[in-house]
Amino acid sequence: MAEIVIRNLRKEFGEFTAVQSSSFKVEDGEFFMLLGPSGCGKTTTLRMIAGLELPTSGEIYIGGEEVGQRPASERDIAFVFQMFALYPHMNVRRNISYPLVSQGMPRAQVREKVAEVAKILGIEEILDRPVGGLSGGDRQRVALGRAIVREPKCFLMDEPLGALDAEFREHMSEELRKLHDRMGATTVYVTHDQLEAMQMGDKIVVMNHGVIEQFGTPQDIYDKPASLFVADFIGSPSMNFLRFHGSLEAGATEAVLSHQPLGIPALREPFDGDMVYGVRPEHVRLSDSAGYRGEIVAAEYLGTTQIVTLATPNGEVKARIASDQPARVGETVGLAFNGATATLFDNQTGRAIR
Ligand code: ATP
Repeated sequence: MAEIVIRNLRKEFGEFTAVQSSSFKVEDGEFFMLLGPSGCGKTTTLRMIAGLELPTSGEIYIGGEEVGQRPASERDIAFVFQMFALYPHMNVRRNISYPLVSQGMPRAQVREKVAEVAKILGIEEILDRPVGGLSGGDRQRVALGRAIVREPKCFLMDEPLGALDAEFREHMSEELRKLHDRMGATTVYVTHDQLEAMQMGDKIVVMNHGVIEQFGTPQDIYDKPASLFVADFIGSPSMNFLRFHGSLEAGATEAVLSHQPLGIPALREPFDGDMVYGVRPEHVRLSDSAGYRGEIVAAEYLGTTQIVTLATPNGEVKARIASDQPARVGETVGLAFNGATATLFDNQTGRAIR
């Protein structure tokens, strides 16, 4: 078992707190994403799990053992950076077998392991080639091969696809996910790319300024964002935010914006003050019969869909609609929101009101 439990983990660099009291759990075999903008503390969190950085306080358990103050070499993990760190003077086979040879594994067994890994990664043909002349993709596979050949309890990956162009990146992210499904090793993966996190992760932790904003499945995080930050960071185009002031009772299923009632999931608690009505572009329809109105200011054609931007009394709204639906710039139209999918936020704290 290689579940990873992080409890009240904190890291200070002098006066600066890079990670503030984080707690989360990575289940055995899970593909787990640490997601957030640059500088939010995700790499520092990963480096603490790896043992490359010692926590200021808090605990790290790998497979039930507290390892927070132990050196990296005693943690049975493989750390994969952007995957180009190969030994240029060695061929593919020697690059992959290096970790095993340096552990003193007998030659025959090394050959067997390398063959197995090469098969998984589809690089049997290039085992005897020097790494210098390989394509970017093959070099990535070799670097991965070197990480997986030791069969560590878990993999820690820091933006491993960061250096690749968009198309190849997508291809490699699919390969990585397939590889994970085949091997089943617990993986913690750092990225600032929300799409990559949504596509690859079983679970996602979203971080901002050293704080965990939300922890959940991609679907949870997309459908039920816990804060304005998460709602804005996840999804492209991001969620629409309509600002308004009002007073809502517990159980309310409507919020009134510009004299028009808009549906919301029933509230558990009453709320009074400045709020934000959040709704995703795919949950906005143009409808003649809707009382809430907006003026079309732009329409962006995307093939099967188009993104229509409208000016409304509560701010700009984007609607993702079928591209064959007429949407003329300058026209004023009704907007219907799918209230069941909407999220209300407290404008002051930025937290979701449920
Ligand atoms: P990026 O994607 O840019 O690497 P990140 O979310 O991974 O961002 P971290 O690298 O964890 O962020 O850094 C978090 C904060 O801690 C940053 O403000 C960074 O400048 C700071 N930091 C990281 N390492 C150190 C260090 N050794 N000394 C001082 N400050 C540091």
